[in-house]
Amino acid sequence: MRDGGIILKSAREIELMRAAGRIVHDVHEMVRERAAPGVRTGELNEEAERLIADAGGTALFKGVTNPHAKFPFPAALCTSINEELVHGIPGDRRLDDGDILSVDCGVRLAGYCGDAATTVGIGRISTDVRQLLEVTRRALETAIEKMRPGLMWSQVAKEIQGVVERAGFSVVRDYVGHGIGREMHEDPKIPNYWSEKQHAFDFKLARGMVLAVEPMVNLGDHRVEFGDDSGWLVVTRDRRASAHFEHTLAVTDAGVDVLTGG
Ligand code: MG
Ligand code: MG
Repeated sequence: MRDGGIILKSAREIELMRAAGRIVHDVHEMVRERAAPGVRTGELNEEAERLIADAGGTALFKGVTNPHAKFPFPAALCTSINEELVHGIPGDRRLDDGDILSVDCGVRLAGYCGDAATTVGIGRISTDVRQLLEVTRRALETAIEKMRPGLMWSQVAKEIQGVVERAGFSVVRDYVGHGIGREMHEDPKIPNYWSEKQHAFDFKLARGMVLAVEPMVNLGDHRVEFGDDSGWLVVTRDRRASAHFEHTLAVTDAGVDVLTGG
C-alpha cells in the first residue's frame, strides 16, 4: 500500500524490519563496548562484518555508489571522527582519547532493511562535545516522543531544530533522513529542520510508514563539505565537531515503534 509516494508496511513487514534492526543494534552494542583509545576503526568494521554475516544479514553500505564517489563504499560501517560528519571509511586510524566517533550501520535481512547511527565519546571528552552528544541524542528522542499518525513531519522537524538551536548548536541541512523498507533509501526525505521552502515536501505521518530519522548536529556552523577527494567523507566546513544519532522508526496507532532499539 502507498500513501502518496510513501510505501506503507504491513505488520509482518515491520517484524522483518525489526529482525534486521536487531542486528544493527547488536553492532552498535559491540562498538560501544570496543571503541577505546588505540583501537583502529578498521578493527571495529571487521568485527561488525563478522557479526552481520554470522546473523545471516548483509551489510547495506558495502558496495553503495554515489554520483560524487570515486569507488563504491568499501565497508559495513561508516566511521566518522570529530569534524567528520558522515561516510568516513574505516581503516588504520586509531581512536584517540577525547575523540568522538560516529558509527552508522545498515543491515538487510530476509529482504528488509534496518539503519541506525550513534556517536560515542572515546576516553575523556570535553564538556562542550559531551553536551553536543547529549543534545543530538535528545533531538532524536524528541522526534520519537512527538511522532504519531496525523501529525505533519514539519511539526516534528521544528521540534528537533528547536532542541538543537536552543542549546546553541546547528542542524545539518545537506543530509537528511529517509523512508526505509526493502531498500535502504525510500521516499520521503526526512529533514531535521524546517523552512517554508520545503512546504511542497511536507507529509502527514500515517500508520505503516517506516522512517530512518537521523539528526546530524554541528557544534558550530551548519555548513558541510567533502573532507577529501574520495567523494565519500563529509566534514564540517568550520572543522568543529559533529554528532549523529539515528533510529529506524515504524509509525503505529500509538506513536512510533523503535525497530533498531534492541
Ligand atoms: Mg544510517
Ligand atoms: Mg539513514
